Amino acid sequence: MQTAGMAQNTVVSRHLTSDGVVVWTRCACGRLRMDLIPHEGGASLTAGPCPHCASAPARTAQS
Ligand SMILES: [Zn+2]
Repeated sequence: MQTAGMAQNTVVSRHLTSDGVVVWTRCACGRLRMDLIPHEGGASLTAGPCPHCASAPARTAQS
């Protein structure tokens, strides 16, 4: 299932892990991104955010 929007990210897959839900997303430009959404709530962890199409959440965990 894919949405037809050009500037939309496409969810490639979801995996349930002990830490939370891992979601792989393909950016509109083709780049893969991984998000970990903790079961406990709180900020999700993002790996490989797209530098081109960055639409990062307002608040991410940054050191
Ligand atoms: Zn992109």
